[in-house]
Amino acid sequence: MFSKTSGIGFGTTLALAREKEILEAERQRKRRLSSIVQQQRKMSNTSQGANSISPHQYTSDPTLAWEMLKEKRPVKPVRQMKLDTPVRHDHVRFVCIGCTHGCKLDMEKIPPGDVLIIAGDFTTCGLPKEVYSFNKQLGHLKHPFKIAISGNHECTFDESFLKSSNRERDLEAKELALKQALQAAMASTKMSTPKELLTNAIYLEDQVIELFGVTIYGTPWQPKVDNWAFNLPRGQPLLDKWNNIPSGVDVLITHTPPLGHGDLMANGQRMGCVELLNSVTKRVKPKYHVFAHIHEGKTLILLASKLWKLPLGYGCTSDGYTKFINCCICNEDLEYKNDPVIFDIPVHPTTKQYYSQNHKKITKRIHKEEKK
Ligand SMILES: [Zn+2]
Ligand SMILES: [Zn+2]
Repeated sequence: MFSKTSGIGFGTTLALAREKEILEAERQRKRRLSSIVQQQRKMSNTSQGANSISPHQYTSDPTLAWEMLKEKRPVKPVRQMKLDTPVRHDHVRFVCIGCTHGCKLDMEKIPPGDVLIIAGDFTTCGLPKEVYSFNKQLGHLKHPFKIAISGNHECTFDESFLKSSNRERDLEAKELALKQALQAAMASTKMSTPKELLTNAIYLEDQVIELFGVTIYGTPWQPKVDNWAFNLPRGQPLLDKWNNIPSGVDVLITHTPPLGHGDLMANGQRMGCVELLNSVTKRVKPKYHVFAHIHEGKTLILLASKLWKLPLGYGCTSDGYTKFINCCICNEDLEYKNDPVIFDIPVHPTTKQYYSQNHKKITKRIHKEEKK
C-alpha cells in the first residue's frame, strides 16, 4: 500500500510522464506535417507523381468524360450513419455540412462531434454581415474544432474575384452591381479580408492541417460556371490546384464534387471535375472526400435485387476505398432540407483526450500560424 506522500509522488511522476508523452506527440505531429508538405513540393517538381496526371481529353464535357470512364470507376451506394450513433472513446466524429447559403443553422439537427466540417457556400455572396452572422452561429455549436472552406458564393474571400476589372466584357449588369456592392461593403469594414470575421472556425484555402493525428486538406476551387468566386477553367488550371493536395491525406475537403460522385444534376448533366476524380483515385487516395455544390437529392436504383437510394448530389458513395460525401444542406430550391452527414475515424484514446482538452489552445495556435 502506498503512503500518502509516496502516492502523491507517484501521481506527479505519472503526470510528468504524460506531459512528456504529449509534448513528444506534438513534436511528431509537426514533423509529420512538414514532411507531408515537403514531399508534396518534391512531387510537384518532378515529372512523376502529381504531374503524371494529365487533363482528360473530354475534360470540358464531364457528362461525356464520365460515359468513357464509368466502366472502370465503380460507384457504390453507401448507407449514411444514423446521426444518433454513439461515438466510441477511441474514434473521432466528423460532422459535415455544406451549402447552407445564408440559412439560419438548425442547431437541433446538427449532431455533436469532434470536428465540424463546412464545405463552402455558407453565405449567399460573402457579405461581411453574412460571415459575421454565420460565425456567431458557429459560436453556439459545441464541436471542439470547426473547419471551413469557401465555395463559389464566398465572393469576398476570393481576392482575385474582387480585384479583377469591373470592365470585363462578359460581366452582366447585375453581376457588376453585385461586385461593386461587395467592394463597397468590404471597404466600409476596413478589413483586408472577411476571413478575420471567421473567428470560430479554422479556415483552409489550399492548406493542410492535422487534428487528432488525422490530416485534413481544404481547397475552394471549382469548374467555372458564370462569374463566381474561386472559378477556374476545367483542365490544367484546376489540375494545378489539385496537384497541391498532398498524397495520402486522410480527409479531403473541396467545394466541387469529383466527376461521378454526387455530381449529377436533375437534367442528367454531370458537373464534377474529371481531374479531381483522377487526382483523388490515382494519387491522393483519401479515406474521405467531403464536398457540396451540387444540391440535387437522391434517386432509387435496383442493385443486387435490393432497392438503393443513390445520390444525384447529396449523399454518400464509395469507389471501394474512398468514401465520397456530398453534404449539401440546401436542396435545388435553396431550402434547408438535408441532414448533416457524419463519419468516424479511429484514433488513439490519449490523442483524442489531448486534442479535446486543448482545443482552444490548438485552434489559437493554428490561427496564429495562419496570420504568418
Ligand atoms: Zn451551394
Ligand atoms: Zn457552390
